[in-house]
Amino acid sequence: MEENVRVRFAPSPTGFLHIGGLRTALYNYLFARHHRGKFILRIEDTDQSRYVENAEQDILSSLEWSGIEVDEGPANPGDFGPYRQSERGDLYNKYAEELIEKGMAYYAFDTTDELDQMRERLQKSGNPSPKYDAVTRQSMKNSLTLPQDEVRKMLDEDAEYVVRLKVPRRETIRFEDLIRGHVSFESKGLDDQVLLKSDGMPTYHLANVVDDHLMEISHVIRGEEWLSSTPKHILLYQALGWEPPKMAHLPLIMSPSGGKLSKRKAESEGIPINTKNYIEQNYEPEALINFLAFLGWSPGDDSEIHSMADLCRLFTLDRVSKGGAVFNHKKLLWYNENYLRDQSNQQLAKRVKEITQNDLIKEAEDDKLAKVIGMVKERVSKVEELIIMGMFFFEDPAEYDEKALKKWGDDSPQLVTDYKSKIHELPDEEFEATILKSKLEEVINAHDVGFGKLMMPLRIAVTGQGFGPDLFSSMELLGKETVLRRIDKALQELG
Ligand code: GLU
Repeated sequence: MEENVRVRFAPSPTGFLHIGGLRTALYNYLFARHHRGKFILRIEDTDQSRYVENAEQDILSSLEWSGIEVDEGPANPGDFGPYRQSERGDLYNKYAEELIEKGMAYYAFDTTDELDQMRERLQKSGNPSPKYDAVTRQSMKNSLTLPQDEVRKMLDEDAEYVVRLKVPRRETIRFEDLIRGHVSFESKGLDDQVLLKSDGMPTYHLANVVDDHLMEISHVIRGEEWLSSTPKHILLYQALGWEPPKMAHLPLIMSPSGGKLSKRKAESEGIPINTKNYIEQNYEPEALINFLAFLGWSPGDDSEIHSMADLCRLFTLDRVSKGGAVFNHKKLLWYNENYLRDQSNQQLAKRVKEITQNDLIKEAEDDKLAKVIGMVKERVSKVEELIIMGMFFFEDPAEYDEKALKKWGDDSPQLVTDYKSKIHELPDEEFEATILKSKLEEVINAHDVGFGKLMMPLRIAVTGQGFGPDLFSSMELLGKETVLRRIDKALQELG
């Protein structure tokens, strides 16, 4: 057990919460709960140009739906607020200035044109990825090259500038990643990172480091795409004289067809990408959480079904994999089925009534609906499929499934008619599954045909479909009058 664990989920409100983001939030949350620490939500909204209204609300409601509880955040501040970077005032300025004073950062006055020219010049001389670095900075317009009084004059005259980190020329930056082990980067591959932009706002790098420090974050757990930012952050921690938090970079989420699961890929492969889509499509939150927990982690045995409480108990970073985790949609549906079946028929009846648009189902008797659900529950993966599959209990089939109709053969009318006369004679109290089944056996024996010869046409007549729950129990629940009416109708329409 680690002491004083404080972790954060730090999304930028630039769109709806992506399932990759939800997994990051989940792993942070599980880690926090495992160590009885705190899970913090920090909104990183310093990039005004990418700000999307309602994105923060979407993040909050997605976390809530998923059962991820925020201990400190914009909606429930703790002692380390504000929890939106845009509300943290000129805090970042202060640290940028401190870095300049210490000689670890500098003002750069170059215009876009001048930067372009520099890149062009370097490209021409055979440098494919020109950088603003220890070498190039010497020929650019910044507070390291210009005389001090000129710098002061420019600042006084409100000239446009950015503040850049003075990345050392030749240094190996090393850190231990709790998932990846020893990681090192060469500083010569790094740009002199912009820390403050010309609009006075901090970049992600500065704000992220300052806030992780001030919010006393113990572990940074985030996606692998941020790994290459980490050396810049380590340099910043060093420059500010701060101890960096422990780092853990989570494996990428991969598409089933290979490569990173991008928005476009997900779309083309029918994978919902935003948490909001899963909410709208009636997925079970416990299923999505269980599935995401296993997308890059496993408890180390064969167990697969785990509640959030279980996951909190079991989760450790040393069982997170380094390699990419493939998003398997079938597996998610398998989890969904499991969590659906876990719920009582009454519970599901309530939910079905909430989501259906169909008046017959909305007004159905709770008891009957629960019975129907009990009969179809084992055959569906999603809650709305209960409605689709159970619909025939509430209305006569308006049409017959085309594929199923292939099983309506020349001998079907005779077999169905014979069956009908047999069940017609049954008193109401004998209209029950075992008797209905024995009547079917009598008919097929008399005609010397297989079970399916009568079973399929009968199913088509009664349900309109080629598959579904046990036919005899279904007929019992539908009642004699309805079953006879449907058989008559089918005989009339199908001949
Ligand atoms: N704001 C970054 C994001 O949108 C945070 C990355 C990090 O966790 O450091 O994911």
